[in-house]
Amino acid sequence: MKKIQKNDTVLIISGKHRLEKKRGRVLKVFPKKNQVIVEGVNIIKRHTRPTQDLPQGGIIEKEAPIHISNVKLICPKCNRPTRVGLRVLDDGSKVRVCKLADCGEMI
Ligand SMILES: [Zn+2]
Repeated sequence: MKKIQKNDTVLIISGKHRLEKKRGRVLKVFPKKNQVIVEGVNIIKRHTRPTQDLPQGGIIEKEAPIHISNVKLICPKCNRPTRVGLRVLDDGSKVRVCKLADCGEMI
């Protein structure tokens, strides 16, 4: 189980957004590369050639992937940035848990 999953809310903890303490929703996870795409974070501008949909061509703004080590999960239960723990339940299934000592809730 991946510690960061689609639709999680994360805090950006490094790169140029570090000082902004920017939060965003995870749009996509690339497990093999350990990268995620976070809504509104790490926007790149891409110049495109004219296509049928966009006859004049132009600049498309798009989120670029960032490394998973640059984000921290916001615990949906306590609304604070946390590390994620994994816990195995009695039936063998795995769940994510908030590692903050005073929270510890399943995520
Ligand atoms: Zn928590």
